Amino acid sequence: MRNLHRELFTRWGLAVTTVDMTDLDAIADAVRPNTRMIWTETPSNPLVKVTDIAAVADIARNAGALCACDNTWATPVLQRPLELGCDLVMHSCTKYLGGHSDVLGGVLVSATDSEYCQRTRAIQEEGGAVPSPFDCWLILRGMQTLPLRVRAQCDNAAAIAAMLDGHAGVERVFYPGLASDPGHRIAAQQMDRFGAMLSFCVKGGESAAMKLANGLTFIPHATSLGGTHTLIEHRASVEGEASMAPDNLLRLSVGLEHVDDIVDDLQQALERVYQGGS
Ligand SMILES: *Cc1c(COP(=O)(O)O)cnc(C)c1O
Repeated sequence: MRNLHRELFTRWGLAVTTVDMTDLDAIADAVRPNTRMIWTETPSNPLVKVTDIAAVADIARNAGALCACDNTWATPVLQRPLELGCDLVMHSCTKYLGGHSDVLGGVLVSATDSEYCQRTRAIQEEGGAVPSPFDCWLILRGMQTLPLRVRAQCDNAAAIAAMLDGHAGVERVFYPGLASDPGHRIAAQQMDRFGAMLSFCVKGGESAAMKLANGLTFIPHATSLGGTHTLIEHRASVEGEASMAPDNLLRLSVGLEHVDDIVDDLQQALERVYQGGS
């Protein structure tokens, strides 16, 4: 998103203000007379922060602005922002909807056939951002198993978050399913389950994080998410210089494997980094 703003939108004369979306007062304060849209992504990348969608939609409505939600991490199985008052929902189909890490795609859903929606569709058609028939076929095929995959992945993620949360080498786990997580209460209200994405900060800084990621034998170190296979990513090095991700943070996209296989791999890698430390 930040790259899009900097490289494209700003050049088109679009002004963007970024706000901590867990701070409702800060969002309301950031609204200006020319604000046309409030954009939210919940749970967010990579800190898995939870935004109160209904409250943000209210702020947008009062400001006469549209409210859009990037629902990629939650999927419609867990969270339905249109029901919470949003005007627009976006999903990267590359992730859970496709679900098998073999297709790129995206979808924008509008609550109404508004003028905005018609204009967006016209831009897509005229601009040529249309998916190929094969990509559509892959995504439709993936979506047939979406509810089952997502629920199973959430169950795995909950078990992994609990294991990491109790490990001496782990400084902090970011997962709204943990009762101690700042996003837990809102997530419990607006999500059916807590998702299958989680991040954690390890003790010993970036070198320990890299050592841990490289010590895994079953979980590949890779960037995408939402597929059947568990993936780990060192966010700061993927984002580069301007990254705001802590350098000791690792992000996990929890897959569909047997939970013991995922837990065992994490535990043996943790053991290597923090010998005798668990
Ligand atoms: C991956 C991702 C995107 C971008 O999707 P692509 O299909 O890779 O372009 C947008 N939002 C979120 C939350 C994502 O995880």
